Amino acid sequence: MIPAQMRLARRIVLAAALSAPAVIALVIGAAGAGRRTILVPASHAGFPGWLAGPYASIGGDGLTAQQLATALLAMFGCYLLVLLWARHVPAMWAVTAIVAAHVVVLLAPPLLSADVFGYLAREYNARVEPLAGGTPDDWGYAYRTDRNDPTELSCHASGTAIDLNATRHPNGTEPTASLTVAQIATIGAILDELDHTVAWGGNFTHTKDPMHYEIAVPPGGLQAIGAKLRHPAPAPVAPTKETPVQQKRDAAITAAQEMKQTAKRRGRPAVVQKAVAILNKLRGIK
Ligand SMILES: [Zn+2]
Repeated sequence: MIPAQMRLARRIVLAAALSAPAVIALVIGAAGAGRRTILVPASHAGFPGWLAGPYASIGGDGLTAQQLATALLAMFGCYLLVLLWARHVPAMWAVTAIVAAHVVVLLAPPLLSADVFGYLAREYNARVEPLAGGTPDDWGYAYRTDRNDPTELSCHASGTAIDLNATRHPNGTEPTASLTVAQIATIGAILDELDHTVAWGGNFTHTKDPMHYEIAVPPGGLQAIGAKLRHPAPAPVAPTKETPVQQKRDAAITAAQEMKQTAKRRGRPAVVQKAVAILNKLRGIK
């Protein structure tokens, strides 16, 4: 080949290698946005449109672990190719490729995320009460002192605390003022699943803060639970068409079952009896 043709060929290969990350990220993002898959662990308990994002309309159908690995390896291969010919890459091309890949990933749903607050918020939303809708009152990082002890920095100052449905469960109120016994039992069950790496303000012995959840282990103490959360239970099969009343009843039955199990484990027969009574009542609703 004469040099001019080689240069042209190299430019074409480079253009393809630079576009590949954005294109592959779009394929992965769209695959994860179409339906509940392991690509978006947060979709496990439900996949609302706001979580799926704009790629939901493309209607992707998930990727197998092998396909995902192939896609990531292909991206890495393109990166190596670009590095190899780095001196022939026009700066504008590189900047465009980087910006495009970032935009594509930002528009995708939160892929492969797994952290204790993600798990807590997702399960709370699915099992205790919805977090979306109404007032935007789910809070996280805020550099400030502890509301209940102004001599200390709040856990929110290090981003290790979140508040869920804050306006509904104000600081300084009893949990039972805004949560049912079943809801409180479900919160206990979720914290059990997190191996009590997260403490709930509703259990504080001083001022109770039922909106508040904070990391209760030292740095490094989340590794074990991280491994557990990276392998969540498989996504449930497509739900059958249920009426809103049936859905509410099923959610309440699940909560009551959890309440019963937790009470059994903790040796509280009175609470077990109460849960059984609630279950019997709920199962009578058609
Ligand atoms: Zn808080």
